[in-house]
Amino acid sequence: MNIILLGPPGAGKGTQASRLENERGMVQLSTGDMLRAAVKAGTPVGLQAKAVMEAGELVSDAIVSALIGERLDQLGEAGAIFDGYPRTAAQAESLDQILAERGRSLDHVIELVVDEDALVERITGRFTCASCGQGYHDAFKLPAVADTCDACGGHEFKRRPDDNEETVRTRMAEYRAKTAPILPIYEARGLVKRVDGMADIAHVTDAIEAILDGRA
Ligand code: ADP
Ligand code: ADP
Ligand code: ZN
Repeated sequence: MNIILLGPPGAGKGTQASRLENERGMVQLSTGDMLRAAVKAGTPVGLQAKAVMEAGELVSDAIVSALIGERLDQLGEAGAIFDGYPRTAAQAESLDQILAERGRSLDHVIELVVDEDALVERITGRFTCASCGQGYHDAFKLPAVADTCDACGGHEFKRRPDDNEETVRTRMAEYRAKTAPILPIYEARGLVKRVDGMADIAHVTDAIEAILDGRA
């Protein structure tokens, strides 16, 4: 099974992808994570992407599609959860080709429907474990024991440089202008399912699992 999680920044794509990984043995393919790793490692891709990401704009279609193709080649038989990709019509077209070349196809495009006003709060409160990447939120998902990662026991946490209010506004505008318009493409193919992304984290997972199991 191969699915796309689609939604604006802060909709909960990464949170849900990691829960599906744990529960279903699928693999999360996040272009944002791949790009941040490239920036950290100082690769040529990272050097090109850094300023673009800090401004909240989109990295070039060619770069992200190449990253996705490489990562899919390492998946074996596992199902893919595309998180943050595709983000433009050109990327959606590339994805069709990338999947076809590997004998895969899309099963569902799951749109996380959220209230835009809530996104700034979600994003400015977001932080992750520095050792394992587990995601948290200042108001909505604190670690069970203060300053201790639920998943690995780590005590160091980090915040993304682009998770500030000004950049979030640019990222939301990019989503509206370039990413939302790809929904009708998938709609025409009967692939789109909508989930209420404002529900509790666990309820959102239940709703997605119902779709994957053919119960919704
Ligand atoms: P995305 O990958 O779509 O940008 P994240 O999964 O990183 O979004 O979620 C953004 C922030 O909101 C994180 O801090 C996360 O813990 C929190 N969050 C995710 N889903 C929910 C939810 N359903 N309710 C409340 N907070 C949530
Ligand atoms: P979020 O879901 O919170 O918006 P991501 O981690 O998916 O954040 O992306 C962070 C940044 O990385 C984006 O603002 C953009 O600059 C870049 N990026 C990630 N995925 C893509 C993509 N598919 N196409 C272009 N740029 C991307
Ligand atoms: Zn951790």
